[in-house]
Amino acid sequence: MDALVCTQPGTLELQHIPPPVPADGQVLVRPRRIGICGTDYHIFEGKHPFLNYPRVMGHELAVEVVDAPAGSGFKAGEICAVNPYLSCGSCISCRNDRPNCCTRLSVLGVHQDGGMTELLCLPPDNLIRGDGLSVDACASVEFLAIGAHAVRRAGVAKGERVLVVGTGPIGVGTTMFARIAGGDVSVLDLDVERMRTIASITGGKAIEVPNGTSPADAALAATDGEGFDVVFDATGNKHSMEASFSYVAHGGRLIFVGVLDAEICFSDPDFHRREMTLLASRNATGEDFTHVMAQIRGGAIPVGSLISHRTSLEASVADLPLWARDKAGLIKAVISID
Ligand SMILES: [Zn+2]
Ligand SMILES: [Zn+2]
Repeated sequence: MDALVCTQPGTLELQHIPPPVPADGQVLVRPRRIGICGTDYHIFEGKHPFLNYPRVMGHELAVEVVDAPAGSGFKAGEICAVNPYLSCGSCISCRNDRPNCCTRLSVLGVHQDGGMTELLCLPPDNLIRGDGLSVDACASVEFLAIGAHAVRRAGVAKGERVLVVGTGPIGVGTTMFARIAGGDVSVLDLDVERMRTIASITGGKAIEVPNGTSPADAALAATDGEGFDVVFDATGNKHSMEASFSYVAHGGRLIFVGVLDAEICFSDPDFHRREMTLLASRNATGEDFTHVMAQIRGGAIPVGSLISHRTSLEASVADLPLWARDKAGLIKAVISID
């Protein structure tokens, strides 16, 4: 079978390798759609910490069941979404029902080989039956679940003023699920064109920053000088994450969805004056996956407008490096295997 292998940073190869043999209890699946994520571009570029090469990337998956052991609950031909977070089941996080931050977490396509391949073996617990969802929809569940998890963690309540900073795919999911939770949601991005596009897709309000003013001025102007009840930063950018503190209202919450491989600084007096709550949000749990799939089924998520670019396993060798460099007009690129 063919697999797209990142042999070292900057090098992708389509390799012919032996098909995997399912271990006891595992389900053999055929990836049908593989969403390409910021993480994949980082792995390709060698910017991802804690990673060994060669690596088969791909964690945003829609798969078709090829062979399932008796009693697994799955049967051949079923389309499933995949929870790519393989947790240990026994550490402090797992014991507290938080497998998304398992101390021994292994992420498919990051810490172990993932879905950019023709066949893959998975534990049945990490498969979620599509039950009528399209393959495109199933491949969108994982990145939307990251936003859904952040919104759940923040406890967004009906009528709260919410700001989402950064309009990449994670910001898109966060905006959609904050709106579903009843928030009055605005979006902010320095890429004005992207911000306007995403605002129109998600129904969030674009925060325009007039010349000569700062994003903080614009955020305050949009909230009668009060600031937002809940601010999500989905940039993973140091400058943006530090600036996000100034958008939060007194008594408000700031949630870092994007992760930064560095330290950030903030003013303790400003933090204390507001009695602000600062939260990290990491990955997603099965509960978030189920919530996302129910919302797609209910028609709340315009999945069709999220996939902007398509490619094949063969053509990814050239396309993925291109998109790693140039993301103009790119919302989500997907590899199709039919
Ligand atoms: Zn991803
Ligand atoms: Zn664990």
